[in-house]
Amino acid sequence: MVRPILQASLRFSKTKMGRVIAVANQKGGVGKTTTAINLASSIATAKVNTLLVDCDPQSNATSGLGLVKDPGRTSTYHLLMGEANAHEAVQRTELDQLWLIPAHKNMIGANLELVEGERREFRLREALAPLRDRFQYIVLDCPPALDLLTLNALVAADSILIPMQAEYFALEGVSELLDTIERIRASLNPELTIEGVVLTMFDDRTNLAQQVTVELNRFFGEKLCKTTIPRNVRLAEAPSHGKPALLYDARSRGAESYMELAREIIGHSMPIQEAESAAEEKQVVNAPRWKRWIAERNKLTTINILDR
Ligand code: ATP
Ligand code: MG
Repeated sequence: MVRPILQASLRFSKTKMGRVIAVANQKGGVGKTTTAINLASSIATAKVNTLLVDCDPQSNATSGLGLVKDPGRTSTYHLLMGEANAHEAVQRTELDQLWLIPAHKNMIGANLELVEGERREFRLREALAPLRDRFQYIVLDCPPALDLLTLNALVAADSILIPMQAEYFALEGVSELLDTIERIRASLNPELTIEGVVLTMFDDRTNLAQQVTVELNRFFGEKLCKTTIPRNVRLAEAPSHGKPALLYDARSRGAESYMELAREIIGHSMPIQEAESAAEEKQVVNAPRWKRWIAERNKLTTINILDR
């Protein structure tokens, strides 16, 4: 039995425009797709219409929700190319309130095909715009690269959720991701915020995980999600059955931890918390290290994807 996120659904304002959350980290295999699938399905059980958009040519979110390969189907590729409207691309899933826009492996080519395209960074944002009053949450699963596909997702998003493993090199590569976020904020999407950093495949029994968590807490402060996702075999098995964990084994620790994460993230969108976090954005003094680090730099490093 799937336990709905009752409290969250009661407190969620149904009139609000959809919130778009990109699940991104250019590092491979950190749990982006597992997070995107299970967060989106957990939010959907709160009785809010939720859309998962697969932005990765690997199409793992598409197959993980049970859609078989179909080259004729409208996919994110067609949206990026301006060949279809988003309403046509939306597919039903096994969960009543979860829909999916599938990916296709030909999206690898989209990176190249879009290079000379007009408003190439805004394609996904513009394609998804008509869906923002149909879905209260739109979750984007990004590929493991800071390429034009991820860039389109970050320009389309209100916030970025960064899955990360609590390992020794956890912060390696994060500066590049934070630089990209800053550059996008400065030019293409000033509204982009950090939804949170979520620790995945977490094993709190190890000293290393605890030490890394202390370090990440110091670096990200309140942006480090309180919920951690344990390493759990059910989460790894569920996609091969084409199901989110809550339909595969709702009582597993994996499924329950994603329900908890959904509660935490829905909590972020509540008006009172929005006001608090807006006030906090203004306080650079006493801010966690990543904020000070961004505020102190006077020169941004160059990242190729944003340079014409
Ligand atoms: P990529 O960068 O290739 O897109 P990703 O960041 O999307 O990868 P996933 O595909 O979600 O990462 O996860 C990588 C592998 O780890 C998968 O086999 C997945 O089933 C497994 N996995 C992810 N999270 C967990 C978890 N919490 N417990 C156990 N296995 C997990
Ligand atoms: Mg993935």
